Amino acid sequence: MKRTAGQDRSITANWRPATRAIRGGTWRSEMGETSEALFLTSGYSYDDAETVAARFRGEDSGMTYSRLQNPTVQMLEERIALLEGAEACRTQATGMAAMTAALLCQLSAGDHIVAAKAAFGSCRWLIDSLCPRFGIETTVIDARDNHAWEAAIRPNTKVFFFETPANPTMDIVDLAFVCGLAKAHGITTVVDNAFCTSALQRPLEFGADVVAYSATKLMDGQGRVLAGAVCGSAEFINDKLLPFQRNTGPNLSPFNAWVVLKGLETLDLRVQRQSENAMKVGKFVESRVPKILHPGLASHPQHNLAMSQMAACGSIFSLVLDGGRAQAHALLDALTLVDISNNIGDSRSLMCHPASTTHHSVGPEARADMGVAEGMLRLNVGLEDPQDVIEDLDRALTAAGL
Ligand SMILES: *Cc1c(COP(=O)(O)O)cnc(C)c1O
Repeated sequence: MKRTAGQDRSITANWRPATRAIRGGTWRSEMGETSEALFLTSGYSYDDAETVAARFRGEDSGMTYSRLQNPTVQMLEERIALLEGAEACRTQATGMAAMTAALLCQLSAGDHIVAAKAAFGSCRWLIDSLCPRFGIETTVIDARDNHAWEAAIRPNTKVFFFETPANPTMDIVDLAFVCGLAKAHGITTVVDNAFCTSALQRPLEFGADVVAYSATKLMDGQGRVLAGAVCGSAEFINDKLLPFQRNTGPNLSPFNAWVVLKGLETLDLRVQRQSENAMKVGKFVESRVPKILHPGLASHPQHNLAMSQMAACGSIFSLVLDGGRAQAHALLDALTLVDISNNIGDSRSLMCHPASTTHHSVGPEARADMGVAEGMLRLNVGLEDPQDVIEDLDRALTAAGL
C-alpha cells in the first residue's frame, strides 16, 4: 500500500473541506488506482508466524482481521475525521450502531444521561428502554431550553445526548451553550449530526466531545447503503470506543464503506444544492400550510440560532396540517413525483408521516410530548428541479383540501 498525501495530516490539515471530501484518507495499492480500492476481505495472511504474533502484541501496525482493521474502511474513517475536524473516527454498520456504541462504550450502571426528548425514534428507544435495563439513569428534557439542561445535571451525569436540528420537529439545540455547560461539569457531549453533516455544522468547533452519524443519510446521499460513524478525540476513540467496537462487532462492511467514500466526494455540492432547493420548496409550502418547521425560514422560532450554527438550512423540514393523520395521509397519497419514504438525505425528494412511521414505536404520549403532531409531515428535498417538486406538492396540497 502507498500512503498518499490524503493520509498525511501535516498536508491534509491545509486542505479545505471540498478537497478533504475527495482526497482525504486515500491509500493506493501498488497498482496506483485513482479511485479508492475495495478490499472485500475478512482476513489477512502473513509471510511468517512472528509477523502475525507481533501484530497481535500491538508491536506491528499491520492488519489482522476486518473486525479490527480494513483498508477501505480506514480510508473512509480518515476522510470523515478530516471533514469533521476530529482526531479520530470509527465507522459502524448503521447510524443506530454508531449511537449505541457511542453511548454504551462510555456508560456503566449507576451513570446518568441527559437527552433531548425530540429525537429519532430509535435514539429515544436507547434512552427510554435500553439504558434503564442496564442500570443507566436517564432524563429527557426540552433541549431547546438551556435552563433545562442545567437543571437536569446530577452528580452522576456522564453524558449529554441530542440532535440539532432534531428529527422531525426541527428543534435546535444551542451548541455553544450546551457544550460549554457540559465541559464545566466534566460531562461528555454526544451530538447526532445526521441532519447537517460536516458540510453544514461542525459541533466539535462548538465544544462537543463526540459527533455520531447515520452516514446512511447525507453522507451516502443516494439511498444505497446503511452506515454509521463516531468521531472524537484519539483518546475517546482508542480507549473507549475501540475496545467496545472490536469486541462487540458493529463494524461497517468494506463494500458499504466504499459506497460512502464515493458519496462523500459530492457531499459539499449536494448539501449546498439541496439546501437551496429546500429554501425554494419551503417558501412555497409556507404559503399553503398552517405551520412549517424550517430552520432556514424566519418563521422558525429558533431561526437565528439555527443560522448561527449551520452554514445553510439543510435538505429537511417539516410541516403540520390541521386535519391530523387523515389529511397528512391524503397529501402523501396524492404525490406523483415525491416518494412516500421514511429515508432522508437522499438525492430524491422523499416525504413521510413520522407519527405512523419513524415515531410509531415511541407511543402517542411521548409523541405529543416531543411535538410530533398527528398532522406532521417531514420532507427531504432532493436534487430534482425544485420547480417540479413544488408543482407536485401544489397538486397534492390541493388534493388534500389545502
Ligand atoms: C436515520 C437516523 C438515525 C439512525 O440511522 P440508521 O443509519 O438508520 O441506523 C439516527 N439519528 C438520526 C437523527 C437519524 O435521522
